[in-house]
Amino acid sequence: MNMKLQSSLRQKITLGYLGYYVMALLIVALSLFTFLELRLIDNKVTLGEHISELFDATLEIRRFEKNYFLYRQEADLQESKRYAVKAIDLIESNAADFAKLVSASRISALQNDIRAYLALMDEYAGTGTKDAVQTELLDAQIRQAGKDVVTVAEEIAGTERRKIRATLDRFRLILLSSIVLISLLLIAVGWALSRMVARPLKHMDSCVEAVSSGSLDRIATPSEDREIISITQAFNHMLDELELRQKMLLRSEKLASLGTMLAGVAHELNNPLSNTFLTTQILLEEVEENDAARRKELLQQVEEQTVRARNIVRDLLDFARDKPVNRKNVLLAPLFDEVILFLRRETASDVRIVTEIAADIELPADRQRLEQAFLNLIKNALEAMGETGEIRISAVRRDPSRDSAVPRFDEGGKSLGKCSFDGDVVDIEISDNGPGIPAEILPRIFDPFFTTKDVGRGMGLGLFIAYGIIEEHGGCISAESEVGRGTAFHIRLPLERVGEANT
Ligand code: ADP
Repeated sequence: MNMKLQSSLRQKITLGYLGYYVMALLIVALSLFTFLELRLIDNKVTLGEHISELFDATLEIRRFEKNYFLYRQEADLQESKRYAVKAIDLIESNAADFAKLVSASRISALQNDIRAYLALMDEYAGTGTKDAVQTELLDAQIRQAGKDVVTVAEEIAGTERRKIRATLDRFRLILLSSIVLISLLLIAVGWALSRMVARPLKHMDSCVEAVSSGSLDRIATPSEDREIISITQAFNHMLDELELRQKMLLRSEKLASLGTMLAGVAHELNNPLSNTFLTTQILLEEVEENDAARRKELLQQVEEQTVRARNIVRDLLDFARDKPVNRKNVLLAPLFDEVILFLRRETASDVRIVTEIAADIELPADRQRLEQAFLNLIKNALEAMGETGEIRISAVRRDPSRDSAVPRFDEGGKSLGKCSFDGDVVDIEISDNGPGIPAEILPRIFDPFFTTKDVGRGMGLGLFIAYGIIEEHGGCISAESEVGRGTAFHIRLPLERVGEANT
């Protein structure tokens, strides 16, 4: 038993989903982190505002202190004290927050410094200018205390600024690395999914496309996934079945046409054979020994019927023999001239054959075979018209891939053979103004042994053979007809010259 764990497309897709879930989780976590971090920064900014307020208050204390020493204005002293009280209030109401930035002892030291400063100011105000030495000493003490207060406040403000900057730097770093990580994960999961899932599916898609355009080549398994393997197997099985059915269809088609052909041959041969049999019976039983003239007449009939049977057999042999196609560059106009000349004796004097073929149209062809095809078509037209009428033969060189005005070939009716080409083609039309072909029999005229002619006049192989020859030359043929107005056969043949041809 194969113990190897078989991978499956479903597992891979689930894995892919898992990757996307992880990413979604990461994004949620990142958003949460951003939210919390912003709240933290918000708190720090508020704290920073209080610290700035404290710092400003200490600066104001010193400013009014200086003014007081300069101008001895009571108002300046009061302002300085007011700011000192404000600074103490700020420290007391934000003690817990400030403690996060500097040690509690430093805070209480600041508080004490300010209180001491206040006390010194009071003392200074009380002493006045009575004792110059005392005043000078107090002056120096106040200046020093004020300086200390500003230094500590400045230190607190600096620490706060550094902390905010550090928080912002960390926040930026985490945000950036998370974005990079999520983007990388996104690319990795997408790439893995496309490699593991999309690629085999794409391969299958191109294989299906190839099958729909006619190829029956079996598909190689593009991946080890269970689903892909079973789809490929099912697909290949379907191709096997398709091929089998195609073969069966071909076989039954072949059997059917063989049946038609045998019936046709039997019928065709039966007539001359029965005629010969009847004539010999008469000869043996009824004709007097000495009636030489009658005997001769009957023997001539036997000969005629035998020739007819021989011709039928010769036609069949001609048709059945698989002669190799011998292509050479052939000029079209002289080829038609030869066919028309060959049919001279069968052309009634009131029948006109008009040709419009450029002298330089040349195509790669087996001359004899192509002559045979055109002969069959012209002969049919002559036979259909009888004593009067006109046959028109024209040939035009075209390039259907470049020339959009070239008519689609199958517009006229049923067309047989390959009608689309890449390069130049020649469009040949052989038309007559004979009785035309009824619509109900038009689709059958190319069938082997289909004829409307009397026994002995047609075997129903003429158009079938003509179509076979056109097909051998890589071309196509179609017929267009209307009862009472005549018939036209359109033939399209590739013009690629021998030597330039691929084959
Ligand atoms: P056959 O000439 O031995 O009958 P073909 O295959 O050449 O066999 O032709 C099949 C039938 O197509 C003819 O019997 C005739 O009814 C019809 N047909 C062919 N060409 C013409 C035409 N130009 N005009 C009228 N009918 C035609």
